[in-house]
Amino acid sequence: MSVATENTTFTSLNPATGEVVAEHPVHDDKAVAEAVARAREAAEWWRDLGWKERRLRLLNFKGALTRSLQRMARLIHEETGKTLQDAQLEVVATITHLDWAARHAHKVLGPRSVFPGVAAINHKATLEYHPLGVIGVIGPWNYPLFTPMGSIGYALAAGNAVVFKPSEFTPGVGVLLAELFAVAVPERPVLQTVTGLGATGAALSRAEVDKIAFTGSAPTAKKVMAACAESLTPIVAECGGKDALIVDTGADLEAAADAAVWGAMSNAGQTCAGVERIYVVEDVYDEFLARLTEKARGLRPGFDREADYGPVTMPGQLEIIERHIKDALDRGATAVVGGLESVRRPYVEPVILTDVPEDSAAVCEETFGPTITVQKVKDAEEALAKANQSSYALAGAIFSGSRSRAMDLARRMRSGMTSINAVLAFAFVPALPFGGVGESGFGRIHGADGLREFASPKAITRQRFALPGSVVTFSRTE
Ligand code: NAD
Repeated sequence: MSVATENTTFTSLNPATGEVVAEHPVHDDKAVAEAVARAREAAEWWRDLGWKERRLRLLNFKGALTRSLQRMARLIHEETGKTLQDAQLEVVATITHLDWAARHAHKVLGPRSVFPGVAAINHKATLEYHPLGVIGVIGPWNYPLFTPMGSIGYALAAGNAVVFKPSEFTPGVGVLLAELFAVAVPERPVLQTVTGLGATGAALSRAEVDKIAFTGSAPTAKKVMAACAESLTPIVAECGGKDALIVDTGADLEAAADAAVWGAMSNAGQTCAGVERIYVVEDVYDEFLARLTEKARGLRPGFDREADYGPVTMPGQLEIIERHIKDALDRGATAVVGGLESVRRPYVEPVILTDVPEDSAAVCEETFGPTITVQKVKDAEEALAKANQSSYALAGAIFSGSRSRAMDLARRMRSGMTSINAVLAFAFVPALPFGGVGESGFGRIHGADGLREFASPKAITRQRFALPGSVVTFSRTE
């Protein structure tokens, strides 16, 4: 949590205990502009270092983060309330991506010769990817390290400098990240963190950086885009989701139920690509629901070592969760696990809703709580049609007894990422791109696409010899 105490500082609070974690400065327009100016200078130095020297320094950064794994995990635990184990997993997953980005940047973005084609056969054609310059990264609080580092790590590896504005709920994670970078790369401020509320993010959006990498809600993404439109600053936007899990005939129902509760309830359901809707084919519905409800009833929120997940990080989210449950129940849904009484500030006990109208808030809007809707469908085609109806399209999952049907459904699912017989696996694979379509945003982080997101392609041709009759001159053969 965060509280603005006065204009110049704000405090982050532990959402489980309400205790102050730390006080941080509010960076205003001037402070943000100064950080961007420093980043401009640093960006030139970083670019001129070249691939090998940058890789060495990024691997030093990885080393610094690895050595501080426990410190970083504890801070994530305190600022978000998520379990320490989940926080540790977040740091480990981040390190995996940073390592991949550092080691693959040259391979993906380094200069290469391409076939010039018949019309320009007398030319050497070269493709290069140049850094953009300064990237402004605006991050959310739910994965305060992993999510922004999906942009920061790849942007740095592509040769850019970064100014990072962490969420006001998790500023400490951003400050520690920049500190660790400065230890690994003391020469120039290639990664800086500016702290503050939304206004600091707005200042960064107006600061005429070379690209904004935004992760957060769709309404804020629209404000960032509007601000960036003034200076034609491009953006990559990673927004929310309302992801569906399909349970098809022949699926391993035990594995599907395990994955469903983990995908829906871990991190108190505050996962952009978490499971929010489940569509189950009728012949396996009763058995799946029985397994799912049993597992969900066994989960306990809390802040201690035995807890399965923590509190809801952002107090305002509790009202949204409550509204979605109430609306569903008012419209005839059944709460087979929990109900309105499950919302016990700051915790929310697991909630499973069935027979929920498809146009209700619990099915259409991002709930971001440990709640799931489970709907019975005739077959996998009906499941897919309903899964694809959402305005969001970030990720999805399919459990099926048929590998070929699962692959077919995965390809036709409206999403940027789909897991088969698991949930969220794609997030841990650095070589795969991460991102959605529709209200879930646009552009990609992670993988080769994530590196290219922060680079400008440059085409260079060099005529090697004159060719009479060449299509690119006025010369004509006699
Ligand atoms: P948010 O939109 O409230 O805030 C995100 C960031 O934007 C914060 O740093 C905030 O300070 C900043 N901000 C607020 N107003 C701004 C403005 N006018 N201009 C510029 N910046 C501004 O989102 P949140 O509550 O922090 O994060 C939760 C959302 O993020 C959920 O919708 C979740 O699904 C999404 N998310 C998406 C991904 C993904 O990769 N697709 C990952 C994590 C979270």
